[in-house]
Amino acid sequence: MKNPTHIVIVGGGAGGLELATKLGDTLGKRKQAKITLVDANRTHIWKPRLHEVATGALNATVDELSYAAHGYHHHFEFIWGKMDGLDRDNKQISLAPLSTEIENILPPRTLNYDQLVIAVGSQTNDFGTPGASEHCIFLDRREAAEEFHQAFLTIYMKASASAQVTASSADILADKEPNTESNAQSNSISHTSTEQPEKEKFAIAIVGGGATGVELAAEIKAAAEHLSKYGFQGICPENVSITIIEAADRLMPALSPRASQAILRQLYAFEIDVLLGELVTQVSAEGLYTKSGKFIPAQLKVWSAGVKAPEFLTRLGGLETNRINQLVVKPTLQTTLDENIFAFGDCAQCAIKGSDRSVPPRAQAAHQQSSLLAKSLRDSIAGKPLREFNYQDKGSLVSLGKQGSVGNMMGNLSKDFTFEGKVARWLYVMLYRLHQSALHGWGKTLLLTIRDRINRKMNPSMKLH
Ligand SMILES: Cc1cc2nc3c(=O)[nH]c(=O)nc-3n(C[C@H](O)[C@H](O)[C@H](O)COP(=O)(O)OP(=O)(O)OC[C@H]3O[C@@H](n4cnc5c(N)ncnc54)[C@H](O)[C@@H]3O)c2cc1C
Repeated sequence: MKNPTHIVIVGGGAGGLELATKLGDTLGKRKQAKITLVDANRTHIWKPRLHEVATGALNATVDELSYAAHGYHHHFEFIWGKMDGLDRDNKQISLAPLSTEIENILPPRTLNYDQLVIAVGSQTNDFGTPGASEHCIFLDRREAAEEFHQAFLTIYMKASASAQVTASSADILADKEPNTESNAQSNSISHTSTEQPEKEKFAIAIVGGGATGVELAAEIKAAAEHLSKYGFQGICPENVSITIIEAADRLMPALSPRASQAILRQLYAFEIDVLLGELVTQVSAEGLYTKSGKFIPAQLKVWSAGVKAPEFLTRLGGLETNRINQLVVKPTLQTTLDENIFAFGDCAQCAIKGSDRSVPPRAQAAHQQSSLLAKSLRDSIAGKPLREFNYQDKGSLVSLGKQGSVGNMMGNLSKDFTFEGKVARWLYVMLYRLHQSALHGWGKTLLLTIRDRINRKMNPSMKLH
């Protein structure tokens, strides 16, 4: 008997994991195809929530999904590995050796496929700006978000520890009544020490006024309030300065001007500085330099100004790539030079039908493409032709946190609706629930929603370690 078609999906992100789940639940379950998911990590976190991981609003350990367990329940196999090469003639991908700092875990491996789907996402593009990769955190991976979280907490811990030391030495000195010969000297010390110690200043600069930068800035503002509430008194919320630097003349240029304006208004209300039309040309340990000659001092610097696909895609068996390393695909999502290799999501350049623009690198695009590809690959196993992708821009939502008035909005290029406040917040949350429902179905998504509500009631407002 002929072996079932082997469909290998590389990348279990917003798009790839949904595809593996849909194909596993249908073709895999009926043994009409063997579905394998390969990912460089062992667990999945939905990338649009990384800014929440960075500020501690989301505990990734609670929210992460295990690929192996999910594969068991949805009839696909999971392989932990990082793709680094492709042999198109032998229909084989290669996986890099896996090692930790302590031990080598796995040697280089190969994996055969009949149909290959590449969904490896994107990473931050610093456009070669000097100092950016050394001094900025690129918020494109869970590890980077956790690195930001630790750096953020460390600055608070240090400031709070020195504030506590200053306060307790002031208490000791105040307790010692000046009744000795050194009255005059003690008096002067105790007088100056019992004054409120000056609070430290904390400056954060974010390069890029897209969704990532804007959402991160609003979350940091909320985190500063929480930390003050939990006793981290060394830095008060008013002393946290956040600056967003954007090269374009408005925030989120992909949205309507009205939506950009609404976002700007909300950021100003949070006392977040926004510099528009400023290009960052260099980054140092102390801060950022702009083309117009400005210097923005910052202890923490985040670069979120652009994306590019992983560089290894340019070395994949001569497949066509563009200037930001994306694989160029046809409307069927097949790569232009190999009909058995598909690509979608952030790592693919797919033209929008009837337009000279490409599908934007967004979670909703990856979601739509995974739905199309799941149907298409099922059709192709049944001997039917592949379907063509038709992008539906449903607008974009930006989460500006929960504190005070919530400001989330949806700017639809064609209709230009702008939502703000609670409705927008609800729509934003629904985006994530949609992703969860594609993975678990609505029943389990409802249970997860209840679990999240309970966790919010039981746990601190942010992760403090
Ligand atoms: C902070 C942040 C906020 C965002 N907010 C929004 C938003 O509000 N709305 C929106 O629509 N979009 C948002 N985005 C963009 C959105 O996250 C992406 O468009 C979406 O995740 C793309 O999905 P994908 O499946 O193409 O790739 P990803 O979700 O990035 O998944 C790629 C997967 O491939 C794996 N991988 C990478 N390289 C390899 C390899 N060599 N071998 C094996 N596995 C590999 C990775 O581990 C990962 O699991 C945001 C992004 C960020 C970073």
